[in-house]
Amino acid sequence: MNVKIFNSEKIIHHKEIGDCKYYIDPYIGCSFSCHYCFSQNDFHSIHEESLYIHGDFETRLRNELKNIEPQKIFIGFATDPYQPIEDELKQTKTTLEVLDESGFNVSIVTKSHLILRDKHIIKRMAGSSVGTSVAFREESIRNLFEPNTPDNEYRFQLLKEFKNDKIHTFILICPIIPFYTDIEYLIAKSAPVANDIWFYRLILNNPDDINWKNLSKILDSIYPGFSEENADIFFNSSNPYWDELRKRLNIYQNSTKLNLKIFI
Ligand code: SF4
Repeated sequence: MNVKIFNSEKIIHHKEIGDCKYYIDPYIGCSFSCHYCFSQNDFHSIHEESLYIHGDFETRLRNELKNIEPQKIFIGFATDPYQPIEDELKQTKTTLEVLDESGFNVSIVTKSHLILRDKHIIKRMAGSSVGTSVAFREESIRNLFEPNTPDNEYRFQLLKEFKNDKIHTFILICPIIPFYTDIEYLIAKSAPVANDIWFYRLILNNPDDINWKNLSKILDSIYPGFSEENADIFFNSSNPYWDELRKRLNIYQNSTKLNLKIFI
């Protein structure tokens, strides 16, 4: 992995995500390279070949924090904050330490076990939450779409460690891939380890999106013609497929009292 310094972007970005108003991506570009990832549309030129880090990170982070009241910051919006190279560079660990010192807490999302190294810092930051995302049931299918990430069972175990330590946990069932994401199975697996379960479909804007091109190639390799036949479902949130799923999830929520947050 080629690591380069990137100085021209702010470290703290303003965006409403869940109960956060700001997010930080300690890295830019993501070596997990999930084929459905929306960030490829913005960072496609640097996504697979290189990883970028912010130059003079700690000083710039401290300076930017001076303009923000202590609050919860989302970590890991367009890049998983626990890139394999985090083990060496510790850019995410620095982020957590600086935020902790400054009275902030975090909502942090990752697919990587490396986050366990920082559990004690996250625990210190009262009110913080830790999440992961899952989208598939069978590992053989999951591997087609996200070949560089830890398997699902590992992610459920990861969350269990945080929940057992009384840290708030959440799972994103995301992105929901029509006919491939087994929602009921993933809810049943998530419920014991996650306080909240969020649902998101893949946001696609046009057929030229890089992630749609990647995704449709995989879908068509399984069933020729699948992507063209089902394109409206992927691009149109009013398609009856989503209405039916929303209804199913609402019924599920009422009958189980699980904390489901439905954004499809
Ligand atoms: S781990 Fe997350 S940020 Fe990284 S490529 Fe996969 S979906 Fe995108």
